[in-house]
Amino acid sequence: MHELGLAENVIAAVGSDARRRGFTRVSRVTLRVGEWSAVLPDSLEAGFHLLASLEGDLFAGTELRIEREPARGICTACGSTFPAGRTGLVCPACGGPGRLESGVELEIASYEGE
Ligand SMILES: [Zn+2]
Repeated sequence: MHELGLAENVIAAVGSDARRRGFTRVSRVTLRVGEWSAVLPDSLEAGFHLLASLEGDLFAGTELRIEREPARGICTACGSTFPAGRTGLVCPACGGPGRLESGVELEIASYEGE
């Protein structure tokens, strides 16, 4: 399961950073997930909570917040940006070809703890 591996990476990255900073508890983790990243938020959340429960006190009761980042295209002809539809990346302003500017990322936006 793709999402379980992602959740594992998130917990490993946040966990090592939080331990290094001397945190004893992580209260919230915020992820930024692109609209086109092919990640299922429900599966990611389920995986996160499953793995968090195995981590002991550091991730006890940690809230996972997932922010969806909309897919945006940028036109290679006129440079305008536009919401990328699922039908393709054609510039609505000039009809030129666009490329994907955002929407496929999965990153840890922030985390909070004490
Ligand atoms: Zn254009």
